[in-house]
Amino acid sequence: MVWDVSYTCDICGKEKGEANHWWMLMLGDVPCFEAGQPNQRFTILPWNVNESRNSDMRHLCGQGCAMKALERFMTNRTIEMELAEVE
Ligand SMILES: [Zn+2]
Repeated sequence: MVWDVSYTCDICGKEKGEANHWWMLMLGDVPCFEAGQPNQRFTILPWNVNESRNSDMRHLCGQGCAMKALERFMTNRTIEMELAEVE
C-alpha cells in the first residue's frame, strides 16, 4: 500500500504511518453560549480517509496527543502550541 497523502500530527508533529491509530479533531461552533464562555466545541472523530483531507480537520496520532489537545483547548481555548507550552 502506498500513502498518496502524508499527514502529520497537529500536536507532536509525528508522521502518520500505516499502522498508527490516528484520530481527527474538529473545532466547531457552539450554537448558543453564555457571555465569557468558550464559543467552540471540541470534537474527536475516528480516522476517515476522505474526511482527513478536509482542511477543518486536525490530525492526532493517538490518545496522548488527543488528551494534550483537549487540555490546551480547555486551558487556552485553542489547540495551537504557542500559549500551551508554558509549564
Ligand atoms: Zn501526536
